[in-house]
Amino acid sequence: MSEKACSSCHLITTGNVCPKCKTTTLSDDFSGLVIIFDPQGSAIAKTMNIKEKGRYALKVR
Ligand SMILES: [Zn+2]
Repeated sequence: MSEKACSSCHLITTGNVCPKCKTTTLSDDFSGLVIIFDPQGSAIAKTMNIKEKGRYALKVR
């Protein structure tokens, strides 16, 4: 099963629709993987403006 990253919020999903923002603009051309467990306490989450736990791509093309 191939994973894709949402071009809008960078969430990684295996479906065709982003479960977070419901967009279908997903890309399989992404790099970097960051797993956010604690959005409040994570500097990366703050930088990327992530407010929910999950797996995110650092860069989506
Ligand atoms: Zn999204």
